[in-house]
Amino acid sequence: MLKYVPELTDIVIEEIPDRVTLAVEISNCRGNCLGCHSPFLKKDIGEELTPQIIDSLIADNFGVTCFLFLGEGKDTDALLRLARHIKETYPSIETAVYSGRESVEEEFYELFDYVKTGPFIEARGPLNNPDTNQRLYYHRKDITSRFWRRISSLH
Ligand code: SF4
Repeated sequence: MLKYVPELTDIVIEEIPDRVTLAVEISNCRGNCLGCHSPFLKKDIGEELTPQIIDSLIADNFGVTCFLFLGEGKDTDALLRLARHIKETYPSIETAVYSGRESVEEEFYELFDYVKTGPFIEARGPLNNPDTNQRLYYHRKDITSRFWRRISSLH
């Protein structure tokens, strides 16, 4: 079972470049990042995320072009099943996952258009910090530098 925190569900525009993204925060995080920015997500909180709930969220947020799992929880099979549901039901909506692991299984790259890897390390910052250890892949291509253009254009 995968759980999400309903009250934190939101439309985001910065997490995935050039996409209007519907993001759900997944609890039961298996990570152990030093300086974790969301320790409450390590707890068993929220409600089960089901295909029916995803259908309802997408219906309520017409026009989104990407569905993002912020975190992957502990039940990988459930996560991949939900990603497959989105892919099969909504061909025009891309899928994305923010994992805190250094690497993920091959299947992730088949079911998610966007895959973020790497634990959060406070001293190196998130994706928009050029020193970051984290990486965002689009169809296996590293597009992390897309987050730095705005910064470099200012200097
Ligand atoms: S991936 Fe790391 S920063 Fe994010 S909730 Fe889990 S432990 Fe915290």
